[in-house]
Amino acid sequence: MAKQTTVLREVSVEGVGLHTGNKSMVIFKPAPNAGYGIKFIRIDLPNRPEIKAVWSNTSTGMVVRGSVIEKNGAKVCTIEHIMSACFALGIDNLIIEINNNEPPILDGSAKIFAETLLKCGVKEFDVPREYYVLKNPVYFKSGKTKISAYPSDKLEIECTIGFDHPFLRFQQMSLRDFNKDFYLDNIAPAKTFCFDYEIEALQNRKLALGGSMNSAIVIGLNGVHNKKSLHYSDEFVRHKMLDLIGDIYLAGKPVKAKIIADKPGHQNNIGFVKEFLKKAVIENDEITGGDNEQ
Ligand SMILES: [Zn+2]
Repeated sequence: MAKQTTVLREVSVEGVGLHTGNKSMVIFKPAPNAGYGIKFIRIDLPNRPEIKAVWSNTSTGMVVRGSVIEKNGAKVCTIEHIMSACFALGIDNLIIEINNNEPPILDGSAKIFAETLLKCGVKEFDVPREYYVLKNPVYFKSGKTKISAYPSDKLEIECTIGFDHPFLRFQQMSLRDFNKDFYLDNIAPAKTFCFDYEIEALQNRKLALGGSMNSAIVIGLNGVHNKKSLHYSDEFVRHKMLDLIGDIYLAGKPVKAKIIADKPGHQNNIGFVKEFLKKAVIENDEITGGDNEQ
């Protein structure tokens, strides 16, 4: 039976936040006990406020371009790439100390976070890992976004993106058997992206202030503006998958379900998680019969 984990030793990562442009350092540290979950600690603020990375702490005002958690006025934005790497590597419990309000964007993907967490090693607690599973389907719809989830004994995700844009119209990806190695090779390196015409508007709204050609793919009418070519021709849907995995982990525990997402985005992903949890039940491997290392 899979047991709950945390990291074995602490490792830090430094850089600049995508939206705030603020310099920050995150330190991944072993959690003290099973059931602790994933918690961010703002070590730059008085009394070092803790914010658990769960949907109920998400801040709806700012989630349009990233997932933001907030508690008692202390905030951390753009947490989805770290959350995605934690889910993929099967980290149930983790302390994430941060000395500013946004983790570094690094190369715009989850690759460096995943590699750093791998370097931390894994510590197991003698407590079974718990999962959210479904007995009945869940349907979520908001605007052009549709996300549905069906009972399954493992995590499967189908993700489709569609834009009214000459270069990027439609991409789809199916993930039938979610596991760490597939994630590291196929999803973690996919970079965040934006359209060139959005940049000025985003920066007027004080977003994307830390963005650069090194941390995001910038899409123009006929192709990408970056000199470096794409990692994958379908990198955009892979990044949306990366984000979706991170947002699903805001459920607070790993999820076993078949999820079909059409045009996902942070605000809607969190709306979906809220609906999902109304129907989900908590089980461990002994009950579900599977032993899926996530
Ligand atoms: Zn992202």
